[in-house]
Amino acid sequence: MEFKKSEKLYKKGLKNLVGAVNSPVRAFSSVGGNPLFIKKAKGTKITDVDGNKYVDLVLSYGPMIIGHRHKKVQKAVEKALKKGYSFGASTENEIKLAKIVCDAFPGMDKVRFVNSGTEAVLSGIRLARAFTGKDKIIKFAGCYHGHQDALLVAAGSGLATLSLPGSKGVPDGAVKNTLIANFNDLESVKKHFENDDNIAGVIIEPIAGNMGVVIPENNFLVELKAYLETKGALLIADEVMTGFRSKFGGAQELLGVEADITCLGKVIGGGFPVGAYGAREEIMQEVAPLGGMYQAGTLSGNPIAMAGGIATLTELKKQNPYKEFEKIASSLETVLLETAKKYNVSLTVNRFGSMINPFFVNSEVTDFVEAQLSDTKKFAVFFWEMINNGVFLPPSQFEAWFLSSALSKKDLEKISKAIDAGMLAVSKM
Ligand code: PMP
Repeated sequence: MEFKKSEKLYKKGLKNLVGAVNSPVRAFSSVGGNPLFIKKAKGTKITDVDGNKYVDLVLSYGPMIIGHRHKKVQKAVEKALKKGYSFGASTENEIKLAKIVCDAFPGMDKVRFVNSGTEAVLSGIRLARAFTGKDKIIKFAGCYHGHQDALLVAAGSGLATLSLPGSKGVPDGAVKNTLIANFNDLESVKKHFENDDNIAGVIIEPIAGNMGVVIPENNFLVELKAYLETKGALLIADEVMTGFRSKFGGAQELLGVEADITCLGKVIGGGFPVGAYGAREEIMQEVAPLGGMYQAGTLSGNPIAMAGGIATLTELKKQNPYKEFEKIASSLETVLLETAKKYNVSLTVNRFGSMINPFFVNSEVTDFVEAQLSDTKKFAVFFWEMINNGVFLPPSQFEAWFLSSALSKKDLEKISKAIDAGMLAVSKM
């Protein structure tokens, strides 16, 4: 496989773009290469500027859950484009998308649309503080909640990939109200509450996808929620990744837990920039113009993004692919484990719904510490074999692979073959 045109664009891009990318997760630095430049995508396939075609398991890090350029989404967006791009005033489609979202999440009576997952979470945190009158927030090591200052500590995703403990440029004051707990460890949450009565809430990726996939054990979420209720603190579910992906009602539906505040992004815009945060009525009463918590956005509720979101969620609801996702993920897990065994490669596979992730490690992965034991050098070799065999993966051990409902039997065969080549290459290291 040749990447000549990508290489050329990379060199050109370096002049005016940082690392030639607009998000560090798109740099291939942790797998020892340079970023691919993409030309187009359709259905399950993504094509780079050199004409290499891949089965796409990145899916723009989640949003393209029904595949790229689904015809109903394309049509809805084209129709919206003809009416104008942004008005700075309300449109009917904002009400329509809000109803779809609130109907799917019983804990959300009202929602506010923003432009990204980062914005959704930073607003959700502000709301938790506004409602409780308390300042501190507990986050879990390895969870990533966007790039707001307060949560850029012990974070997963790009920080884990680049082995960064936090970010330069974040003043101590910005993180002094952030407390860290361990995923799947309720005791580590309780310890904070024992020493502190100024905790507004706990933010969590209910199914973590930013340290690789890490699954909540047993009744972790249910017990966490019950405990927080005794402390008058809020559960903030960051469902930017899992919302409408784990189930139509997100990880909360799947796990049988109702968060106080829910943050969404990715799928709800169908590939266009949208985020959202919402909660029950009494909490949302805090948000301006109803209450004193200010949050605003010039492009929020953007008409093109709303049209993309409505069409995507409507089609997704109709397709109801969640059982199929489970089947596909289960068969992928089997292929990964059996192929690893065939070539004597140590592997652990974590999956939940349509998110799956292999770790090159012999032991189970239940939190960030265990995830970091994975052999990232092996992942890098595996990654390039997958690329060379036509499967596009996130260029990081610590990002989930995403499934779309458009995946065909042929795509899965291609993925299986690539996995075989990948494991063989790893076994020769
Ligand atoms: N929360 C979670 C759980 C995420 O996975 C992400 C992005 N990967 C974000 C927040 C931030 O979203 P965005 O990149 O749209 O700002």
